Amino acid sequence: MKLPAGEVLFCENEPAESAFLIESGLFEISVRRNGEKFVVAEIGPGEILGELAVLIGGRRSATVTALKKSVIQKVDADQFRNRVMDLDPVMRMLIETVMKRLNKTLQKIERASGTPCNVYDVGPNFAPEALASLKLENDIALALTRGEMRVHYQPIVHLQTGMLCGFEGLVRWQHPERGLLSPSEFIPTASESMLIRQITSFCLKQICADLPRLRTACLRNVGNVSPVVVNLNITGRDLEAGMFVEELGEALKTHGLPGKALTVEITESSLMLDTAMAVRVLNEIKALGTGVAIDDFGTGYSSMSHLVRLPASLLKIDRSFVAGLFTNDQSRKIVVMLLELARQLGMNTVSEGIETPEDYAFLAKNGSRFGQGFLFSRPVPLNDAITLVKSWDASQAQTGGAEVDRRVA
Ligand code: C2E
Ligand code: CA
Ligand code: CA
Repeated sequence: MKLPAGEVLFCENEPAESAFLIESGLFEISVRRNGEKFVVAEIGPGEILGELAVLIGGRRSATVTALKKSVIQKVDADQFRNRVMDLDPVMRMLIETVMKRLNKTLQKIERASGTPCNVYDVGPNFAPEALASLKLENDIALALTRGEMRVHYQPIVHLQTGMLCGFEGLVRWQHPERGLLSPSEFIPTASESMLIRQITSFCLKQICADLPRLRTACLRNVGNVSPVVVNLNITGRDLEAGMFVEELGEALKTHGLPGKALTVEITESSLMLDTAMAVRVLNEIKALGTGVAIDDFGTGYSSMSHLVRLPASLLKIDRSFVAGLFTNDQSRKIVVMLLELARQLGMNTVSEGIETPEDYAFLAKNGSRFGQGFLFSRPVPLNDAITLVKSWDASQAQTGGAEVDRRVA
């Protein structure tokens, strides 16, 4: 929006529908008390106008007039509120606290001066949610120091031969009161803070410590298993924080492992932050010989641009598509399309969430190189994973194994 000098953008006490970002120009903010005009401030480029009333859905607390020819960008109330609601509870609580303090100050001014000010309605109370989130963060930090985290292993199978060729390492929290907790209960909160770095470090070290035993077990069953590769889940934050590649190299060296014994899995959504930096670090990871996989493929954003730019050699097709193979026409078409896309790009695929022999047959026929799912086994502790390696029968893989019921592990 362009405004000539002297134009009034909005007036005190009007209902507020938008805030405005100032691109260029200069604005005067004024209030009227007992018929007299007071100039409160003059603001210019890079500043924002009218945000308070929009945030709390109140009325304008001041009049804003352009002092020069100006250019502004309008931000609607909904655009604002949606962003605030998307923030994590602690940030929302901070905003709420600032608003409450402002409210108190305005009330004091009102009492002292006898002139009415606009008193803001601060809206819902976010404190309980913020407290719960902070408490969980503190508990996760404590759990890490107390050694309550575990890595469980879920097999990855070569679908054409039925051979076991790797595992995905999946974290669990052995909570002293609540038992074994699924990552969905703590990974989202850990990912909001740097705690995810510590979880990744723990998993990396644990997996590298466990890998020699898994690889030794492979030697006992060479006809049915190949030297296993373990997949480690990482996030954009791990790449951003720096030192991940050094840590990876160190962990491999400590346990005498080649880089190719590991593959890192990263989701598209966690890569949104800074793609150029992610590409650089992923290339460094690849240079160690470690594989790079894109996790939950198809569920994130800008998939195609990521595919072209990222140095990944493996695509993991999300379980939500595989779950609909025989119930949802669209899901089946998406799976076929993703497998074909990977083939054209020369990438390998792991289909996640294989639960039935029919899923297996369909995915193998349509060119998925690898598969993972409850048909073969749920994620299990290291000792059970070693038993799986030793007893794996490639010829029985499609039926989930006749001798050991791996699904109930
Ligand atoms: P993910 O990386 O997509 O992991 C696969 C999830 O699908 C696992 O859930 C696994 O148990 C589940 N799954 C595998 N096969 C089947 C199947 O046939 N049917 C069904 N219904 N589910 C199946 P889990 O272990 O609960 O992990 C959930 C998510 O938590 C993971 O999804 C990943 O995003 C995150 N996560 C787990 N461990 C870690 C970790 O060490 N680091 C990070 N950053 N995230 C992790
Ligand atoms: Ca994964
Ligand atoms: Ca996945």
